[in-house]
Amino acid sequence: MLKTFRGGIHPKDSKTLTSNCPIEIAPIPQKVIIPLRQHIGAMATPVVKRGDIVKKGQLIAQNQGFVSSNIHTSICGIVVDICDYNHGTFGKCLSVIIESNGEDEWCEGIPLERDMSALSGKDIVKIVQSLGIVGLGGATFPTHVKLQPGEVKLDTLILNGSECEPYLTADYRIMLEWAEKVAEGMKLTMKILNVKKGYIGIEDNKPEAVVEMKEAIENICKADGLNIEVVALPTKYPQGAEKMLIKVLTGREVPSGGLPTDVKVVVQNVGTVVAIYDAVAKGIPLVERVVTISGGAIKEPKNMLLRVGTTFADAVNYCGGLTSEPKKIVMGGPMMGFAQYTLDIPIAKGTSGILALTEKEVNSGTVYPCIRCGRCLEACPMGLVPSMFANLADKDAFLEAKEDYNLLDCVECGSCSYVCPSKRKIVQAVRYNKLQCVSAANKK
Ligand code: SF4
Ligand code: SF4
Repeated sequence: MLKTFRGGIHPKDSKTLTSNCPIEIAPIPQKVIIPLRQHIGAMATPVVKRGDIVKKGQLIAQNQGFVSSNIHTSICGIVVDICDYNHGTFGKCLSVIIESNGEDEWCEGIPLERDMSALSGKDIVKIVQSLGIVGLGGATFPTHVKLQPGEVKLDTLILNGSECEPYLTADYRIMLEWAEKVAEGMKLTMKILNVKKGYIGIEDNKPEAVVEMKEAIENICKADGLNIEVVALPTKYPQGAEKMLIKVLTGREVPSGGLPTDVKVVVQNVGTVVAIYDAVAKGIPLVERVVTISGGAIKEPKNMLLRVGTTFADAVNYCGGLTSEPKKIVMGGPMMGFAQYTLDIPIAKGTSGILALTEKEVNSGTVYPCIRCGRCLEACPMGLVPSMFANLADKDAFLEAKEDYNLLDCVECGSCSYVCPSKRKIVQAVRYNKLQCVSAANKK
């Protein structure tokens, strides 16, 4: 029997709204707004100008340095503007706005079929870098960086198929419908990392995905001498957090302030390895992704393959529109996602979900002072003291939060806020403290 991690919670998963909805290909939007910051690291710089005619897959913004990522257009059309526009995480961001001309042809230079047998690990990393692949689980770390751990000797790749956030079913559908591509992508990733041991971790509330992935791994990876286990994990939030997955699957503990590579492991999301496969086998850049559009205020919740740059408003319209005024719009899942004040926000590479939640679905209410009940401590999977983060944010004592309470170990899972009877905004306090730490460091 698998060991579980400490703490964690069991929120209502609300996945049945979309779990049986096959991935639907969205129509070409009339306009896309493509943000130049869709990844962790330096913002990409535009290489097109207003009036340029572009074709799907064409590079429109160049990465700036190692920790950065290229950006390509998701539609054919004309660049009508390059300006600041609404952004789901940063408020505003420089974006390339492209109006569709109705065509849907890939730009020159995309092979759509390639013999992969002659490619070395280094060739594959170059392709992944040039085609703008980033982590699709939400963190959007440039994938080529994760695939080059330097001097560190790795031994294990973990694929994250747990999708523990309520409502989201995009990864579940990917595993059911594209299991072979996931297996191919995993094989490629193991080749780059030069590891022979792999795990695919899937929560045990998705037994069909476990069956599909076991079969695909058997058919595609066994002959290469890879030792890959598809493991049904106990359903508990936040099972999909990297540190939890590593602990449960390998028994190894990532040290405080450390990275998975410190324990010889790399974790990738199942959608990311599909993007790696499409890039390497077909030369396709990351210009679309599967998004769950769900919540009680959506008329017909769906999983859709959407072009990067499609607005939330267009995506909601593809689902029949809204049935009522939502109490809250969220980009991502309800636990770790970002609340939005408008649907005029573009889908980015890291957008796993769009939720339009009704009053009944939102864990809101008046915020009261802490009653020192200790529930947040019990729920915290990282063994932190969450109540202190809120207390210290109130006093702007972010350095104390960092140095005395291990602020940077917080994975922002939201378990503490979820269980707090006083409805304290602990995750917001954590994010505020972290931002203050970054600005203080930049001032030095
Ligand atoms: S303090 Fe951070 S890691 Fe702990 S429960 Fe809260 S959000 Fe999760
Ligand atoms: S759960 Fe809320 S009320 Fe209870 S100790 Fe934590 S912050 Fe205070």
